[in-house]
Amino acid sequence: MTFQMYNCPVRSINRRKIIMASIRKKRKAFVEQADCVACGCCVKVCPLEAIRIISGIMAQVDMGKCVGCGKCAKECPASVITVREVEH
Ligand code: SF4
Ligand code: SF4
Repeated sequence: MTFQMYNCPVRSINRRKIIMASIRKKRKAFVEQADCVACGCCVKVCPLEAIRIISGIMAQVDMGKCVGCGKCAKECPASVITVREVEH
């Protein structure tokens, strides 16, 4: 799946747009881990592989990779992800 994503020109363009828009605003995703049901929906939609399920019980965001695009928050059925601006 990852291989196909990086070789599809349309997805590559979208990915670049997401990164550029998000870098300007310095936004990051935050998970309310106590209420996460570890469904993995956020993992599937993240274009940068910046979120993963740890120990099979909760999602965790890699702040170094996350650009705050918000795709994970839109997909989360438990509404436990918020995207916020962070200090530089
Ligand atoms: S906001 Fe969510 S989908 Fe977007 S890069 Fe961050 S973890 Fe991935
Ligand atoms: S989509 Fe929401 S409930 Fe599902 S693993 Fe991600 S943060 Fe947890």
